Amino acid sequence: MLARFAPSPTGRLHLGHAYAALFAWRAPGRTGTCLLRIEDIDPDRCRPDYEQGIYDDLAWLGLTWPTPVRRQSQHMQDYRAALTRLTEMGVTYPCFCSRQDVARAATAHGPEGAIYPGTCRTLDAATRADRIARGDAHSIRLDVARGAAITGPLFWDERDEGRIAVDPAIGGDPVIARRDVPTSYHLSVTVDDHLQQITLVPRGRDLFLATHVQRLLQALLGFAAPLYAHHALVLDTDGQKLSKRDHATALADLRAEGWSVADVKKRIGWQDD
Ligand code: GLU
Repeated sequence: MLARFAPSPTGRLHLGHAYAALFAWRAPGRTGTCLLRIEDIDPDRCRPDYEQGIYDDLAWLGLTWPTPVRRQSQHMQDYRAALTRLTEMGVTYPCFCSRQDVARAATAHGPEGAIYPGTCRTLDAATRADRIARGDAHSIRLDVARGAAITGPLFWDERDEGRIAVDPAIGGDPVIARRDVPTSYHLSVTVDDHLQQITLVPRGRDLFLATHVQRLLQALLGFAAPLYAHHALVLDTDGQKLSKRDHATALADLRAEGWSVADVKKRIGWQDD
């Protein structure tokens, strides 16, 4: 099996990433491989020193990966091509709403915050064309209802749970191309998993809901579905999810304080087999 670990260089890796990385490297089994992919589509938040930190921390954990590493920022044309195909299928629309507009208009909230209520989905073609011609900033969203009407019912296989039915509308119409970048997290992950021929996606439970959208995108684009294995998250001592903002658990700091890899594994409850 071919798996991947796909961190974003927007901060330093912490104990939660150590668990995620060890899980990803073990997931494809002894005869499989885990690729490393750098998800750096966000020019404002990604930094070269964070990327270097990823390589240093993973090497410290004893992990190795095939090179060259795919860095998303170098493959914008692949995402653009997928976006064009989706647009030609009639399942995308421009959205002129800011984050605040969405927050204000939302009537439903999901685990990831305000669910986009579809404000721009019904704009007529002339208004869209006028606003684009005027240079109004806009993202591109996926019309999940239209997409699902094309694909019909979908499922994904979750390694330890079996078949999971896709609920395409679970988080509203997602952004597939941002205002500032001609792709989004969902689109670039879906395209890369396909182009890299990934057969197993090991990742944290916090991305479980993202799989509904990514499975729909795969089906629309005619891509094969990998197997998924979402793992439980490492919690801090208060039972909260660890985050990149929580500097106390940055691997580089722990290393500098003298923690060994064995100390890290003990803290995250990791057992080598
Ligand atoms: N780049 C994403 C992150 O750092 C993970 C993407 C994925 O595993 O699908 O949260």
